[in-house]
Amino acid sequence: MAAAINLTIGGASVAGLASFDVIDPATGKVAGLCPAATAAEVDSAVAAAGAAFATWQTRPDAERKAACHAIADVLERHAEELAQLLTLEQGKPLNGLGSRYELQGAIGWARYTADLDLPIEILQDDAQARIELHRRPLGVVASITPWNWPLMIAIWHIVPAIRTGNTVVIKPSPYTPLSTLRMVELLREVLPSGVLNAIAGPDDLGPLLTGHPGVAKVIFTGSTATGKKVMTNAADTLKRLTLELGGNDAGIVLPDADPDAIAEGLFWGAFINNGQTCAALKRLYVHDSIYEGVAAALLRVAAGVTVGPGRDEASILGPVQNRMQRDRVAGLVDQARAAGARILTGGERPGGDGYFYPITLIADATDGMSVVDQEQFGPVLPIIRYSDVEQAIASANASESGLGGSIWSSNLTLARELAQRLECGTAWINKHGAIQPNAPFGGIKSSGIGVEFARQGLEEYTTIQVVHQ
Ligand code: NAD
Repeated sequence: MAAAINLTIGGASVAGLASFDVIDPATGKVAGLCPAATAAEVDSAVAAAGAAFATWQTRPDAERKAACHAIADVLERHAEELAQLLTLEQGKPLNGLGSRYELQGAIGWARYTADLDLPIEILQDDAQARIELHRRPLGVVASITPWNWPLMIAIWHIVPAIRTGNTVVIKPSPYTPLSTLRMVELLREVLPSGVLNAIAGPDDLGPLLTGHPGVAKVIFTGSTATGKKVMTNAADTLKRLTLELGGNDAGIVLPDADPDAIAEGLFWGAFINNGQTCAALKRLYVHDSIYEGVAAALLRVAAGVTVGPGRDEASILGPVQNRMQRDRVAGLVDQARAAGARILTGGERPGGDGYFYPITLIADATDGMSVVDQEQFGPVLPIIRYSDVEQAIASANASESGLGGSIWSSNLTLARELAQRLECGTAWINKHGAIQPNAPFGGIKSSGIGVEFARQGLEEYTTIQVVHQ
């Protein structure tokens, strides 16, 4: 059992009147207790953030920049403790692209974002007028995060908000609340009271925040279905919104690609974090002429990956995060099998404890199968055969989602041309899912509204004021 971890409201530790179980996905057993905030505590957290905003927005820019670096310093000092907690509740391995990697990502993002500036822009300065464009903070930002990359996404929300002079109330997913609550406890050391507050509880806490009159902006990362509810609930008070929602990214392998050269990139594009990644490769379209070669190369990569409890240093992938998700993924694979798809590896739910599901490669998958048309969000990759690249592009674009997409080819000119025809926020060439703090990231269509990262992401935490003299 983890030691007691509390909510943070107005710089104080709050134990909460009730608590709920947090499950270790590797065992299916209770890993810890999480305090559940009441509606009154949600109000207190928003009020504390509102009170802190009055001062925080007036502080010199250099002070806020230093505070964001101090956040990175705290994460660095406590990286191993947080990584262990993350593995305990999320299931991802300590090693590989797991918890330690997530912490390093969070630290890197915090530092890069700390150093971003939004200087005043001079729009006109002549005998007629001087017109300046200023960026002002919005107020209290409500951050709502999912269970797949809890700490990295929390940092993606918190740091740009604080950097630009806002204050924050964060609500992590009830599946993975402890690492975020603990991180916020640790950050009390470097942030003024009320600048960062953390509450936790079941899903129905979310609407209390997204409809709260004291909240100016919602930054939400999660499913498209919930994102729509957030938007509806935020409408009454005209909150600013950034919505980072689900994806069903397609990758298209052209006939001139070298299967052995691209296999690792394809594999980790799809199976990073067990496929529980918004911009993971979720549908792979491969030209008929190299279809079996690509499938064989993917199988070879899969054979070298150890799946096991995240706490085992040897594990490279862990369990699926929760039972519902594991069962959903298993159901999608069963449906594909029944519809005539070929399971190349995996596809059988193992016995034993925990929410494990094997790496599953599905050949002879076709559009129309649920495992292709829906975001699986698990360790499963359907491989679809095509013979006409125009048809593959049409299939890739025939989706409500528009987060990412990729083209795999040794002809970079052609790959760039086709990449730009993909309807998505990020189009990759010979890679998939690479995101960086210096490149804006966001979805089109049902994958979201707005972007995170880089200057454009930072601007979303501000409003424009024009000063005209
Ligand atoms: P989810 O939508 O179920 O939950 C996300 C968060 O919303 C949780 O904190 C949850 O408690 C909260 N919530 C639930 N109901 C709410 C409501 N009515 N109002 C406000 N908040 C509410 O998503 P999940 O299952 O935790 O995460 C997986 C999904 O997130 C996938 O679809 C994935 O693609 C998406 N995702 C997107 C990105 C991106 O950047 N585009 C990144 C990571 C994950």
